[in-house]
Amino acid sequence: MQTAIQFLNENDAAAFEPAPAYDGPMVDRFGRAINYLRISLTDACNLRCVYCMPEHMTFRPRDELLHGHEILAIVRASAELGTTKIRLTGGEPTIRPGIVEMVRSIASVPGINQVAMTTNGLLLAELAEPLAQAGLRGLNVSIDTLDPVKFKRITRWGDLGRVWDGITAAEAAGMHPLKINAVVTRGFNDEEAVALARLSIDRPWHVRFIELMPFGSVAEFQQEMVVSSAETRALIEAELGPLHRVAGDNSDPARPYRLAGARGQIGFISSVTEPFCAGCNRYRLTADGKLRLCLLRDKEVDLLTPLRNGCTVDDLKDIIRTAVWNKPWGHGLPDGIVPQQREMSQIGG
Ligand code: SAM
Ligand code: SF4
Repeated sequence: MQTAIQFLNENDAAAFEPAPAYDGPMVDRFGRAINYLRISLTDACNLRCVYCMPEHMTFRPRDELLHGHEILAIVRASAELGTTKIRLTGGEPTIRPGIVEMVRSIASVPGINQVAMTTNGLLLAELAEPLAQAGLRGLNVSIDTLDPVKFKRITRWGDLGRVWDGITAAEAAGMHPLKINAVVTRGFNDEEAVALARLSIDRPWHVRFIELMPFGSVAEFQQEMVVSSAETRALIEAELGPLHRVAGDNSDPARPYRLAGARGQIGFISSVTEPFCAGCNRYRLTADGKLRLCLLRDKEVDLLTPLRNGCTVDDLKDIIRTAVWNKPWGHGLPDGIVPQQREMSQIGG
């Protein structure tokens, strides 16, 4: 049986080195502890956000995507290697058939102590309660504006009211702290940051502003639309007063702040202007079964083929461990190196 690592980018193959023997949870060559796996459950979506994918996006055929039992095999192997946190994303994770059962199965894997999800929220009104019952413990809802007309323009056809109903249902289901993700896109929602930030005053939510990242076929559009976190922060402070830095988790890419007297927090994810590579503890699984070692690098390792060739759990663990050992340090955006092989929707953020 062929279980050696299969590189998807030949140029990277030479740079891979075998992981040395060590005990305990996974680390990479730079000594970073890697214990957080983000899984894209599908590349498909029920929206087409302008910064994420083209309007006429084609999605992969079902057979090219990981089946549920294959995802579970990877989660079990990853948990045995010290992974403790799983985030389900997409495309849109809630459109995957059997999503509630998938959450239940993953949450019951020994060693996994948190299962979270990033969603556009459109289906949450029906799903929030069953997902919470199944063991979902963290929820990030992406919502870039509170203006229904702008929301439709950004998502191409999304209904803001449905997302808002979903958020209400998530709160009722006990999803705390609820995190709101907003990508700031010049000309689409850059002035909306203030209204979104205001949500953190009366609600215990974490409102996080994400810098637009260039990817694949929409990279050129994206580069023209980037608004830096510094700019967004200045806009918020000019309207709502100073933001005070608060203590946070070092591995969280969002730098946390609070407005005076606010119940919730405001965070900035500045992957373009201030990358957080030193604290990175994550690796990613794409819907078509590739381990992606850095969001913004096209370096990937194939798990789908070894799984379909009948590899053993130990083979799978060896492949994952070696891949993670070779996780790149940082992204190449400052040098003009933009990930080309995938759209954001195929990786999941
Ligand atoms: N469909 C789900 C959603 O929208 O939350 C999950 C997948 S989506 C790819 C995950 C996150 O990535 C969302 O918060 C989305 O706004 C963000 N995102 C998408 N394209 C992006 C880009 N080019 N730069 C930065 N963030 C992006
Ligand atoms: Fe779909 Fe999320 Fe991408 Fe929007 S950001 S198109 S909701 S995957």
